Amino acid sequence: MFIRFILLLVVVVVVLWLLKRLFADDPETEQVESPEAKKSEDMRQCKFCGTHVPESLVVISNDQPYCSQDHADRDKT
Ligand SMILES: [Zn+2]
Repeated sequence: MFIRFILLLVVVVVVLWLLKRLFADDPETEQVESPEAKKSEDMRQCKFCGTHVPESLVVISNDQPYCSQDHADRDKT
């Protein structure tokens, strides 16, 4: 009698766990996709100050990445 109660409890827990996973699936996949979309732009490190700058804002001077034209000029001297 006691073993049947334990088996029933295990079955209920497993069913609840499966239902929870089934309903939690949609928001989880959306949460995983959004940080990846943000990471799509590569970050470059300024050679002068070490600040990480998005690829589109990087100033390239002598094939080296800089956060600004100011740092590109300052690194030359
Ligand atoms: Zn810099």
